[in-house]
Amino acid sequence: MGPTEPMRTRTYPEHAALESGLKCAGRRTIRPALDGGGGLCIIGGMTRHDELPLAHTRPGTRRVLPLYRFGRPGARPKTYIQAGLHADETPGLLVARHLIDRLAELDAAGAVRGEIAVVPVANPIGMDQPLLGGRIGRFELATGVNFNRDYPDLAPAVAERVRDRLGADVSGNVDMVRAALAEALAALPTRTEGDSLRKTLLSLAMDADVVLDLHCDSEALMHLYTMPALWDGFADLAARLGCAAAFLADVSGGEPFDEACSGFWPRLRALVPAEVPLPDACAATTIELRGYEAIDDAQGAADAAAILDHLRVRGVLAGDPPPAPPACAPTPLAGLDRVTAPVAGVVLFTVELGETVTAGQTVALVLDPFTGARHPCTATTAGLVWSRQHRRYVNPDEMVVVIAGAEPLAGKGAKLLTA
Ligand SMILES: [Zn+2]
Repeated sequence: MGPTEPMRTRTYPEHAALESGLKCAGRRTIRPALDGGGGLCIIGGMTRHDELPLAHTRPGTRRVLPLYRFGRPGARPKTYIQAGLHADETPGLLVARHLIDRLAELDAAGAVRGEIAVVPVANPIGMDQPLLGGRIGRFELATGVNFNRDYPDLAPAVAERVRDRLGADVSGNVDMVRAALAEALAALPTRTEGDSLRKTLLSLAMDADVVLDLHCDSEALMHLYTMPALWDGFADLAARLGCAAAFLADVSGGEPFDEACSGFWPRLRALVPAEVPLPDACAATTIELRGYEAIDDAQGAADAAAILDHLRVRGVLAGDPPPAPPACAPTPLAGLDRVTAPVAGVVLFTVELGETVTAGQTVALVLDPFTGARHPCTATTAGLVWSRQHRRYVNPDEMVVVIAGAEPLAGKGAKLLTA
């Protein structure tokens, strides 16, 4: 949003809620909206639906972010969940819709203890970038920038505001920082639609205790990314989702959304006196819901159920979930071995997802259709094959197979994520 543009809030008429798949089950009241338009679908609890407009749209166009909120406003722990930030990654759209349906029922039953916000389509810009039968959802066509990169570091601006006011009370400090964070975010200039998207998403997420960003990989097993200090908290989620891998880094490089939320706190700690108690008050993770084509309704419902059980463990939802199975062992993000194609050609895999390989093993051949030569693609490290290229024709140096190595690899540099 621009600094002068108010956030537009629209309550949700019952018929629209039903059309959207939001089940108005059980106890139900319709009351006039405060603005006189439509009516509020109260499904027990406090379920609300808003549409947040983006700024800097072109003349004659309008884009909005759909926002569903559950539980009492301001209740803790607050959880923020979004899907489709990379707009071509479809599994998250399905899981988010299952989450919304289930949360509406739980809210009606009074089982939402904290506050939960869900944005099921987090990137209306990317959703509107069709191209020649496909969709460019990862990069903004107008700027070439990855939608999940370049989130601002607000720690310096917040440190300026709170440095002399922080005390010995941890929860008082957290409240003060969150208020300053909102101010710093509101003061952030926006020049492009992409800036507006980043700012609006951060405004919804940055004061949350838990942030889940739903993505998917190319052709992959379930996995997630988070910071090492947050792994103890997210091991339960990884286990319930059946993650085959979890990748840890304090700084991934590229400033992705999850690190803008969770990495803010350690960055702020480094800017204030060492004796000031400041916890990691936001636990954020990027969940990779397998691959682009891994779309299955029952699987999506099961993934949503796993996330809800994790929210029970965190006290966001009432109830005791069943015990989680053992979690996978996390590995360093710097240990990822992205095996690339030496030439362009047809990819012929020699390993399956889930296989463990050794260093030096051939994991694929790239067939040069011009010469007939088959070029080996070789693992640098031992580890689990958790991702493969979903396309079967690759360009030179394009990723073919990715392996989870247990140790950081030399020469990875500061940018540990892909473009
Ligand atoms: Zn993604």
